[in-house]
Amino acid sequence: MSTITKEKALEYHKNGKIGIDLTKPCNTQYELSLAYTPGVAIPCLEIEKDENLSFEYTNRGNLVGVISDGTAVLGLGDIGPLAGKPVMEGKSVLFKKFANVDAFDIELDVHETEEIIATCKAIAPTFGGINLEDIKAPKCFEIERRLQEALDIPVFHDDQHGTAIITTAGLINVLDLTGKKVDEIKIVVNGAGAAGISCAKMYQALGVKNIIMCDSKGVISTSRDDLNKYKAEFAVETEDKTLEDAIEGADMFLGLSVAGALTKEMVAKMAPEPIIFALANPVPEILPEEVKEVRDDAIMGTGRSDYPNQTNNVLGFPFIFRGALDVRARKITEGMKMAAAEALAGLAKEPVPYYVKAAYHNDNIEYGKEHIIPLPFNKEALIWVASAVAKAAFEEGVARVDSYDHEAYREKLRC
Ligand code: NAP
Ligand code: MG
Repeated sequence: MSTITKEKALEYHKNGKIGIDLTKPCNTQYELSLAYTPGVAIPCLEIEKDENLSFEYTNRGNLVGVISDGTAVLGLGDIGPLAGKPVMEGKSVLFKKFANVDAFDIELDVHETEEIIATCKAIAPTFGGINLEDIKAPKCFEIERRLQEALDIPVFHDDQHGTAIITTAGLINVLDLTGKKVDEIKIVVNGAGAAGISCAKMYQALGVKNIIMCDSKGVISTSRDDLNKYKAEFAVETEDKTLEDAIEGADMFLGLSVAGALTKEMVAKMAPEPIIFALANPVPEILPEEVKEVRDDAIMGTGRSDYPNQTNNVLGFPFIFRGALDVRARKITEGMKMAAAEALAGLAKEPVPYYVKAAYHNDNIEYGKEHIIPLPFNKEALIWVASAVAKAAFEEGVARVDSYDHEAYREKLRC
């Protein structure tokens, strides 16, 4: 890969990365009269009578708003809504490129929880779905929950659930590869922010019983009196105070914290065949080569594309929204998220397409400890994940469509 320099990055971003295109001809007096007045009044009146027709006669059914207040942008922190715009535009690019979902970014210059909720509610009629992005914890939890309750379109905070879905897929396959039992493993989650809390919840939904969380002050235990309500849900009775205490005998380490938080000494104390997801960006909690120095039975994943088992959210959100939009889902349920994780886990077991191997200059990629999650360029992910999500939405009764044909939908996605 060519090196990313400041000049190249700025050149790439000149005038932004995404525009708007027409989907209907507008070249004659007749077409102009259809596109705007008087023709446009007819669908308006139909939608006034039946709101569901907004999915039929507007672009809403394929349109997602990527909404951020710029308070937790990438690993850059609270850089504000305008400075965060390139990231939100980038998210829209990925929606379009990977799943043909139209998305545009909305940067909000309001930061109070109530103001963000009110603004999202006010603009919701525009969209078929809302992807909340890079909003700081803990307010992101309340904002997402309240909007889910108030709106009848999917509201999904990707920083929380994207990571949860993809690491759950990896965990499902690690259990398969090592023969460990989901209700017997011990997981240490380091970092109790947006991503860490959501991951821990999803592992519980998978059946994990023993989870210890740590934040910047150490183990989240019942003896602490400085926990917000989201952390308090995970407080356990334990003598352990530090990550170093908690990591003893752990089967999994999930790092959503800061570079260097996990040491080689801690890795050495983990259970046999441990899984280590070190996801802090851009520098992980520990590097794969450091883990290798102390043991060779670990399964390792990072957020980076230059190491095996990359957890890249692009494997999730474009396809999850694709599936949800195609059945006009009212929300994204826990079942739909789990279906997405299971689909990714299943796809990782399939033979890896030739073009994916070519993209990584590696002919030997196959299901195993170095390939527990599909790679981002695997085009099958669209078919597997979107169809799993659509099916789950239909089965759970949150779809607006009257019928759903799984095989026909998969075929349509393939085309
Ligand atoms: P966040 O909401 O700011 O949460 C960060 C958490 O890390 C906080 O709970 C913080 O503790 C804790 N923390 C900070 N220093 C720590 C330390 N030395 N030991 C233990 N915990 C520590 O951030 P986030 O959105 O969850 O993201 C966290 C990191 O994960 C970022 O680097 C982000 O880029 C990365 N990430 C990667 C992926 C991916 O690869 N797919 C996805 C999501 C996030 P306090 O609560 O005490 O402040
Ligand atoms: Mg983000």
